[in-house]
Amino acid sequence: MTRLDELRTNLRAVHDRIARAAADAGRAADDVSLVVVTKYFPASDVRLLAGLGVTDVGENRHQEAEAKAAECADLDLRWHFIGGLQSNKAAAVARYADVVESVDRPALVPRLARGAADAGRVVDVLLQVSLDPPGRDQRSGADPATLAALADEVARTPELRLRGLMVVAPLGDDPALAFARLAGIRADFLARHPDATLLSAGMSGDLEAAITVGATHVRIGSAVLGSRVGVQ
Ligand SMILES: *Cc1c(COP(=O)(O)O)cnc(C)c1O
Repeated sequence: MTRLDELRTNLRAVHDRIARAAADAGRAADDVSLVVVTKYFPASDVRLLAGLGVTDVGENRHQEAEAKAAECADLDLRWHFIGGLQSNKAAAVARYADVVESVDRPALVPRLARGAADAGRVVDVLLQVSLDPPGRDQRSGADPATLAALADEVARTPELRLRGLMVVAPLGDDPALAFARLAGIRADFLARHPDATLLSAGMSGDLEAAITVGATHVRIGSAVLGSRVGVQ
């Protein structure tokens, strides 16, 4: 099997899973967009995926993402930055990322705005909100208690467009239970920002649970590209 055949087969299987999960949730399959997470895989794979109709790709490390976006600049792709964002890299990320999904603190906002302004573009932003149980040390994402202030900060920044929320199910928790914690958080958020309706949730192992709770974007790596060698 060629790499192209492999990617085509895997993509088809993922689209089937999305369609089935959407149907089970009483939603239309085209309500759910696929972001293929290409981290640790070469630009040649990104090129094959674009040829197979993929429109959105996700990366989680700045240097790798920047290089791949440059190598694939001729392709009509939307680049999603989905990884932990260091403040000193935020401006650079906003120069090539079309969507920054992992905005979790106010300090990033002016830096992202500066990068977007330098590049003469408006960057879509999702706020990453933590679903970790209270008291856990290493939260990934904003504490839900700080979300409203962060959302207002992004919403008043002209270079950024507040589009919605992003979550990662905490390791070791039942993803369905973790995603269920999101319902109230998202309702409060939407009450203040009714147009920011996107929800990025769900990875290879839990996309069905995410679609059940309303994910509009699923971020799928290994189910399309195969397992990553090394860590994460
Ligand atoms: C790597 C990654 C994914 C994709 O994970 P898979 O389990 O390979 O589908 C999704 N979201 C984030 C934030 C990631 O870092």
